[in-house]
Amino acid sequence: MSGKPTPMMQQYLALKREAGDALLFYRMGDFFELFFDDARTAAGVLDIALTTRGEHGGEPVPMCGVPVHSAEGYLARLIKGGCRVAIAEQTETPEQAKERARREGTPVSKSLVARDIVRFVTAGTLTEEALLEPRRANLLVALAPMRDGVGLASCDISTGRMELEDCTGDALDAALARLGASEIVAPDDWEGAAAETIARPRADFRSEDGEARLRAIHGVATLDGLGSFSRPMLAAAAGLIAYLDHAGRGTLPFLLPPVARGSGAHLAMDAATRASLEILEAQGGGRAGSLIACVDRCATGAGARQLAEDLSAPLADRMAIEARLVSVQHFHADPLLRADLRALLRQAPDIGRALGRLVAGRGSPRDLGQIRDGLTEAQRVREMLSASADLPALLRDTGAALGGHGALVDHLARALVPSPPTERGQGNFIAAGYDHALDALRETSGNARKAIAALEARYREDTGTPSLKIKHNKVLGYFIEVPAKHGDKLMAPDSGFTHRQTMAGAVRFNSLGLHEEATRIAEAGAHALAAEEAHFEQLVGEVVATREAIAATAAALARIDVCAALAERAVEGDWARPEMVEEACLEVTGGRHPVVEQALAKAGERFVANDCRLGSDDRLWLIGGPNMGGKSTFLRQNALIMLLAQAGSFVPATSATIGLADRLFSRVGASDNLARGRSTFMVEMVETAAILSQATERSFVILDEVGRGTSTYDGMALAWAVVEAVHEQLACRCLFATHYHELSRLAETCDKLSLHHVRAREWKGDLVLLHELARGAADRSYGLSVAKLAGVPGPVIKRAKAVLDRLEKGREQTGGLGAGLGELPLFAATLQAEEEEGDALREAIEAIDVDALSPREALDTLYALQAKARATDT
Ligand code: ADP
Repeated sequence: MSGKPTPMMQQYLALKREAGDALLFYRMGDFFELFFDDARTAAGVLDIALTTRGEHGGEPVPMCGVPVHSAEGYLARLIKGGCRVAIAEQTETPEQAKERARREGTPVSKSLVARDIVRFVTAGTLTEEALLEPRRANLLVALAPMRDGVGLASCDISTGRMELEDCTGDALDAALARLGASEIVAPDDWEGAAAETIARPRADFRSEDGEARLRAIHGVATLDGLGSFSRPMLAAAAGLIAYLDHAGRGTLPFLLPPVARGSGAHLAMDAATRASLEILEAQGGGRAGSLIACVDRCATGAGARQLAEDLSAPLADRMAIEARLVSVQHFHADPLLRADLRALLRQAPDIGRALGRLVAGRGSPRDLGQIRDGLTEAQRVREMLSASADLPALLRDTGAALGGHGALVDHLARALVPSPPTERGQGNFIAAGYDHALDALRETSGNARKAIAALEARYREDTGTPSLKIKHNKVLGYFIEVPAKHGDKLMAPDSGFTHRQTMAGAVRFNSLGLHEEATRIAEAGAHALAAEEAHFEQLVGEVVATREAIAATAAALARIDVCAALAERAVEGDWARPEMVEEACLEVTGGRHPVVEQALAKAGERFVANDCRLGSDDRLWLIGGPNMGGKSTFLRQNALIMLLAQAGSFVPATSATIGLADRLFSRVGASDNLARGRSTFMVEMVETAAILSQATERSFVILDEVGRGTSTYDGMALAWAVVEAVHEQLACRCLFATHYHELSRLAETCDKLSLHHVRAREWKGDLVLLHELARGAADRSYGLSVAKLAGVPGPVIKRAKAVLDRLEKGREQTGGLGAGLGELPLFAATLQAEEEEGDALREAIEAIDVDALSPREALDTLYALQAKARATDT
């Protein structure tokens, strides 16, 4: 039977149309229900039971549901699973729905409560503590592609920070890689959008609207005071705000005034560089093994988020870097101050995020408590800093932003109980003594409760029923209950009790006295709740009114935390303060790779420190030596040292003098990197091409085995040409690792290039990797020794050696790589020869007449045997 959809189904379908591809959470009493495909998706992601309810179009309707009180946990999993969710709440009570039906003349029995989507929960628009990771920013990005480039707006609505930037050409990918947004929106007609991008109407992205919205939000007549913003920037801002409007159904979250991000202010790094340096995520994904995991000692989540941003976007301005370094130095030099300060910071709640929730209208009394406690800690931090002599300017200025909240803190301290609840509907968060009327209401209900206890005692006595109890439940409210056998006594018409309910073993009654006291409790309770609600609104209003100052305090705490944490890390790892200079040099003494060093230390092994000396006369180092010898590690450690220094951190080295770089490039030759669809060699070349077109004299480039992704001749030729281009055209600082030792010939023509190698030694026929860098070309290729180290069987190694000898001989004679290979005896012959050699040794030993040897002869024989054995070895 396929009847007309029920009114509820009609309402559901209308809401679902509005929800679009977001899952619709349809509120029914204490549950959010999902239907149809939404139910299937959610049941799959959440691993909950899929049932059915009624039918639609003759088919049973798939359904699943989650309880409202634990919805947050389920939401978190859905968002993690890549879903977006539309929350449809009941916007009236069943009583109001009936009332409405009466007014409208429709059957009251069939009245349906009105529902509306109150919010879209999406990865980029979260504010809830439970749904956010404390140590990671949560960014929403809007892109506005226009004729003159792509405008990019990003914001973290959990803290209100908003940035606008222009991206032309490759800058867009680099910016997206830097930001790592949770959600990206772009116009629906844009062909350049990536698959996960959320398409929004083009009309949402108009620069005039962006400007008007920003002016309105920040109450300014012109944006000039905030910075200068291009049309694409404003168009992106428009798209961002329109999406926030859509997600919040008209309630905008907290937005600080936008900051225009200039292109030259930061050390530029593209997506490939970020991935290969493993800054915020290790190559396999996840934080473990990344630079940040190794560096982060922040005491607060907000500090960790700031550090992540600093490492993602190191500075390119020397004064700004110095300001940070001096601040880190200040804490480095004063262990007591550092320890005390960090102890304070550890107590400080995340006021930035609490503020974000309060401004978005999703705050709780607990958030108010966090603001109170956080601002109190901030004041203590401020006092501690101002007591410290010779405070650097950055800390002085930051410190100043910590205070000025005295009146607000006092007010919150008086108004709130020590640990206010997350639930706001239950009251009990306003402190006693704050509001006398509220105190009186609480006293009234307290007295009434006492009166009820007294009634119970009196009724027991009067009725002679010691088992009589006064109880309370949600449906009946207060009632008197006696076991069934005593029920008759209270049933008597003149007993003063009125019967309410008969249960299996008990009978329940009411009485006038109880009714009066219960009413007093209910009324006082309702009034008290209303009073608390009013106070809440008022306190939130007060917090929101000073939101920018509170956000500034939150940012200041985060900055101070980062400085102290970097000092802590420097002490822990024996790191040095880098000296920043303008000349294009990179002089590192005793440099280490922080992540590898830490990993080795865990295994009880020691990292071998190495120096690097790039300068204007010697700006390209060609580094050879065996595989696994430490070439990549050396390249990366120097890139990381530069990155850390420009982020304002000390560096893992004994000392470092670093010329500021404008761009940092890191490339690793293809081979291990098969993902992404394009041929790995193609990827390698595309990425190399980007360097050749973008690097400047001020850039720092590391190239690891570039050219390895293709045949020997091609690869070597490309590597050769790339080195020449870097040397002649880019004239930038560069470390180039290669296993083609033929490239060492480049030193003859390139005068700013020098040769280096990672040292290795053969010991008793085995290769020992020293991980030590030395001047000069690698004396030879160590491929065969490394293969032996790796356990390739002896005969194969021996065979390879024969092939290699022949190849090298052929090349010397004819210049052709493969020449002479044909003359080589077959592989089987090598095996045979090996066996024959083994046999010869055996025969020689068997032939010795041990008893006939003098001691001297015995020794000589031993020498002879050893010589023979060695000769047959590689
Ligand atoms: P290559 O690039 O020459 O193949 P890697 O840089 O990948 O070599 O280093 C291989 C391994 O050697 C590393 O994973 C690390 O364990 C170890 N290693 C590298 N450099 C050092 C060093 N300076 N001190 C100690 N061990 C090192």
